[in-house]
Amino acid sequence: MAWIMVSLAISLALTWFLGWYGIIPAIAIFIGISYYMRKRAMARMGMGGGGGFGGMLGGGSGGINYVCIACGHRFKGGACPRCGSKMRRVDF
Ligand SMILES: [Zn+2]
Repeated sequence: MAWIMVSLAISLALTWFLGWYGIIPAIAIFIGISYYMRKRAMARMGMGGGGGFGGMLGGGSGGINYVCIACGHRFKGGACPRCGSKMRRVDF
């Protein structure tokens, strides 16, 4: 919460030196700092969710579609449900 005090101090200093025109850059700095802090917090959250993304990728590999080489049937899993052939290629 220290950044609020810092940005408020900067805002006050700018208002002090520049008068009421100083309020414009002061607000800009305040918005900029809060935006930066939000972005940093989101980056931290994104890093925390990295494991979740990895898990999603791992789960996605279970849903690969295969095409049967024998009959051309598209299926998921080990063997073709139509002809029972295990000869298959990955369908991208
Ligand atoms: Zn087949």
